[in-house]
Amino acid sequence: MAITDDVLVIGGGLAGATAALAAAETTEDARIRLVTYKQSTLRHASGLIDVLGYAPGTTDDQQQPIADPYTALESLPESHPYQRVGIDAVRDALAFFDEIAGDAYAGAHTDRNALVPTHGGTVKPTARYPVSTAEGLASDDRDTLLVGFETLPDFDAPLAAAHLEAAGAPFDARGVTLSFPGIGRDDAKVTRYAHLLDHDERVETPSVTGETGAREALAATVNPHLDEESRVGFPAILGDAHPAAVREALSDALGAAVFEVPMGPPSLPGLRLEDLLYDALESAGVRVTSGVPVVDYETVAADSTGENSTADETTTAAIDHVIVDRNGAQIPHEADQYVLATGGLVGKGVESNRERVTEGIFDCYVPHATDRYDWFVDDVFGEQPYARFGVVPDEELRPLGTDDNPEFSNLRAAGAVLGDYDYAAEKSGAGVSLATGYVAGTRAGEACQ
Ligand SMILES: Cc1cc2nc3c(=O)[nH]c(=O)nc-3n(C[C@H](O)[C@H](O)[C@H](O)COP(=O)(O)OP(=O)(O)OC[C@H]3O[C@@H](n4cnc5c(N)ncnc54)[C@H](O)[C@@H]3O)c2cc1C
Repeated sequence: MAITDDVLVIGGGLAGATAALAAAETTEDARIRLVTYKQSTLRHASGLIDVLGYAPGTTDDQQQPIADPYTALESLPESHPYQRVGIDAVRDALAFFDEIAGDAYAGAHTDRNALVPTHGGTVKPTARYPVSTAEGLASDDRDTLLVGFETLPDFDAPLAAAHLEAAGAPFDARGVTLSFPGIGRDDAKVTRYAHLLDHDERVETPSVTGETGAREALAATVNPHLDEESRVGFPAILGDAHPAAVREALSDALGAAVFEVPMGPPSLPGLRLEDLLYDALESAGVRVTSGVPVVDYETVAADSTGENSTADETTTAAIDHVIVDRNGAQIPHEADQYVLATGGLVGKGVESNRERVTEGIFDCYVPHATDRYDWFVDDVFGEQPYARFGVVPDEELRPLGTDDNPEFSNLRAAGAVLGDYDYAAEKSGAGVSLATGYVAGTRAGEACQ
């Protein structure tokens, strides 16, 4: 017997979680399920919600951060996912995110991109940013001390400060590298730093006699290095369960504003965003099944008689059920509507071998050149065709086949499984996942009402 739901979302990254939440909001009594396999890119990404940071197709020396992403969206090509869903839907999706994120995120007060300093000392144009980064914005002219730690070599604070100054930041930036009280190993996970601060564990530090709480110990380590700076930036390790309390304690002890600099993977702001979304899924009553892949599907034959069917349904097959592999057992899952949110080449929603590029579950059409040497260009900084691989949908986000018709009447796609955009170059990853997840989930919810 199949497990039956109204909407089945496949993939538990930002796109899938948003789709499931949007479907739950659209329908009151519908059963929504999210099935997901491995960790999504949420844990690796910075936690920033980039809508559009750079115009696609600009070369490196032309690149200027986009100030107002909404105006820039209008000039994107027709096939770009933002154009497919429409600019109003992008706004609606961001508003939907703001409701879910509450006071954990900032940036909703303006259409303009904020400039958030990154661990490399560049600034990232982004639409929404964790509130922990808010005091660090590069548009703010307060002088800044960046603090790195010997055991966290990914953040070289003096170098990042030098890069910020060289890039013309409107403030003086200085960096110091210190030892983190209570941590001597350089393989400690970011969650270990966060845990120490969350629980204010007792640690020893040369700056204080005897043991003291980790928050006070950290402030005592930093204090002698603080000159006139009125804000202090740390790598994003300042608490997982209680980040606001950790920042407040440090800020009080230092007499300066405190902010986090987003780091590379694994990313604490990404983990916090994941927690926030999964808490929201639980509150919305979405059933979540994790650690299992969807491996196959069956269709219902298209109704050739046309009786009781729309014109669309007479020509387009519908998915009847999908097969989930649970430790070798093949479990059928049946739903009225399906959302495919399995990610791109990174999430393994899109895969390639030497011959072709495929979408892994439904074998939806992924446009690509027949000669694999045309999948990339030699210039590593050039526009790489493989970065745009993915399924191409209609305005309802239904993946289109080679004949330009929807492949299935009840399947929509969202997030990085979509093609025709290069999230890394344009800085649009989370924005596209949000906008398309929101639209796919809303349409799926409406269709099963
Ligand atoms: C290192 C890194 C840093 C980034 N930094 C930023 C940033 O700073 N700002 C920004 O806006 N964007 C950033 N992005 C991009 C952004 O994270 C992604 O574009 C976006 O979140 C993709 O979300 P998604 O839900 O479409 O896919 P994913 O996050 O890839 O999630 C797909 C999920 O589907 C699951 N799945 C796959 N196949 C199956 C199957 N058969 N059955 C069940 N489940 C399956 C996967 O296991 C995974 O959990 C970054 C990406 C990376 C990799």
